[in-house]
Amino acid sequence: MSAGVRIIMFGRQGAGKGTQSARLAKHFDVPHISTGEMLRNAVKQDSVVGRAAKAVLDRGELVADDLMLSLVQGRIGQEDARTAGFILDGFPRTIVQATAFDSLTQTRPVGFVIDLDVKREIVLGRLSSRRVCRSCDASYTATGNEPNPWQCSKCGGSVVQRTDDTPAAINKRLDVYEAQTAPLIAYYQGRGSLHLVDGLGSPDEVFERIKTVVETGLRR
Ligand code: ADP
Ligand code: ZN
Repeated sequence: MSAGVRIIMFGRQGAGKGTQSARLAKHFDVPHISTGEMLRNAVKQDSVVGRAAKAVLDRGELVADDLMLSLVQGRIGQEDARTAGFILDGFPRTIVQATAFDSLTQTRPVGFVIDLDVKREIVLGRLSSRRVCRSCDASYTATGNEPNPWQCSKCGGSVVQRTDDTPAAINKRLDVYEAQTAPLIAYYQGRGSLHLVDGLGSPDEVFERIKTVVETGLRR
């Protein structure tokens, strides 16, 4: 086994990618690299990247490939990711990103591509009740009975609806997913690194499925 666990997570918005990526990162002791979270942080800090990305994010469109590539290249080049590996959540999202990422990782290729499968009808329901912590990006499900203001149980930050979880932006992101990201599944399938995992069930059940796939693969 080559040192390091390198995993790409695919799945529609609301499939549970973020939750499962965080768990995998903890389990395998590797960094969780969420490009959406990196961008949201950039917006919060009002950095150059954040200012360029804010409107694009709120419309539910994709940020430019070259910007995303330089963000990801910078992050995977850091010590923790270089030695331990990474869980990549939200990248690549286009064929351009995938092929460029292949050349970047030629010497240490990604070992697993997980497609967390949840149908569109189901994620639509999940997304309308999704709430996130403004500080740490932890994800919650609204039931209507939460305290107001709602505080994150992990960090105490305020739990809010994401500004891109409006019906219009959700539908846009799902359309973009089908058009630009779903074709990548065939791309990775062709290389034999793709694993389809059923995303229905409790977070614990889904995590067990993914863990089994990865641990079985690592033993081979
Ligand atoms: P979701 O999966 O719910 O859309 P993410 O947190 O993964 O949430 O991404 C939020 C937004 O960040 C996307 O709608 C897009 O605008 C931008 N984004 C994240 N990753 C990428 C990427 N690899 N390429 C282009 N844009 C991205
Ligand atoms: Zn929090």
